Amino acid sequence: MSHDLWEQAKTLFAGGVNSPVRAGVKPFPFYTKSGKGPYLITEDSQRLIDYVLGYGPLILGHAHPKVIEAVKEQIDEGWLYGTPSKTEVELAKLIIKYVPSAEKVRFVNSGTEATMTALRISRGYTGRDKILKFDGNYHGAHDYVLIDAGSAATEFGVPFSQGIPKEVVSTVVICPYNDLECSEKALRRGDIASVIVEPVMGNMGVIPPKDGFLKGLRELTKEHGTLLIFDEVITGFRLGLGGAQSYFKVIPDLTTLGKIIGGGFPIGAICGKREVMDSLTPSGRVFNAGTFNANPISMSAGIATIRELESGNVYVKTEKAATELAEEIDKAIRIPHVVNRVYNFFQFFLGVDRVENAADARKAKRELYVRAHEKLLKSGVFIPPSQFEALFTSSEHNDDIVNESISKFKSVLEDLV
Ligand code: PMP
Repeated sequence: MSHDLWEQAKTLFAGGVNSPVRAGVKPFPFYTKSGKGPYLITEDSQRLIDYVLGYGPLILGHAHPKVIEAVKEQIDEGWLYGTPSKTEVELAKLIIKYVPSAEKVRFVNSGTEATMTALRISRGYTGRDKILKFDGNYHGAHDYVLIDAGSAATEFGVPFSQGIPKEVVSTVVICPYNDLECSEKALRRGDIASVIVEPVMGNMGVIPPKDGFLKGLRELTKEHGTLLIFDEVITGFRLGLGGAQSYFKVIPDLTTLGKIIGGGFPIGAICGKREVMDSLTPSGRVFNAGTFNANPISMSAGIATIRELESGNVYVKTEKAATELAEEIDKAIRIPHVVNRVYNFFQFFLGVDRVENAADARKAKRELYVRAHEKLLKSGVFIPPSQFEALFTSSEHNDDIVNESISKFKSVLEDLV
């Protein structure tokens, strides 16, 4: 039972968990026994319709047969070689085919490693030390980006983590999201190696870029010799095969990927212009390495996932499900609120009438959101326990699942005051 496991976990792990957001499920987290299609099955035998989907990777839902088949086939051949394997060539070719900015790729093991490495490349390539990031954007759990970070860093009151040397802090410039004026002022100083941005903010709830924001960043960075990094760990292969850069038609110099490209197995990737990527060891002098880089299991799961995205109508299904849910949620809530949706992911904010940046998102009535989360969970729907995450849909969220969800959302949200 979840309660017994939680009692043990509290003595084993800081805060009882291995990633902070998981502790947000009150009074204690449910423990998952299995995942199948759109469902999670808990250790308490509750069946939940899942809109968290591993925080984004599972665009095909849980335990998709094509991914199982690919991973099983690979396991029979061994799973770690310490040498290159053909799986990495295949996955890189798919990424280069679809992601406009990608001419070369480096595979790592998480989104965190991807952004850490991309920022290091930008500093090595330009010879500059500083970076510009946006308030509330989350780029993982390394020093350079845990400054005004969103996601669990904001949820747990540490947008600015302890333990980061002040010398590191002094190299990070922060601007509000969707604020080109601030970005221009910072870039004009001429000492910024790169601007890193979530092309759609998915870590303060969902916040779309304003018209012209991404394009403006592209023009400004070009003008000032600064690299533009799109952190597409969430949006990559979610907003279509070409991610946010195709969706918004703005091409960065470097892109970081993760989540979907590993089909739910640990992964990260940096990709971008050939000349910039060649800064990496062994061709260049910016160091990156990893025992598990390009591990064949993650590669195989990623290939199977992208092949399914190519051949199926996953994008049609996920967009339809997200649109219907977001519209019905919007209609059901009777207090001031905002529903922000981009294509196939979304979030609702209560007690506010606009959410265009992190400061707006912080004004939302989080206690009401948490109450909605708790009631939905009791009724069999799992949405993120934190306001500062997103709801995702998968190809397994068919009409029946969506209709069942809508009636549950309605009965919970109509009563919120
Ligand atoms: N960048 C973005 C935009 C993310 O959403 C996340 C994780 N949610 C990361 C980076 C970090 O990825 P990981 O958790 O795989 O380290």
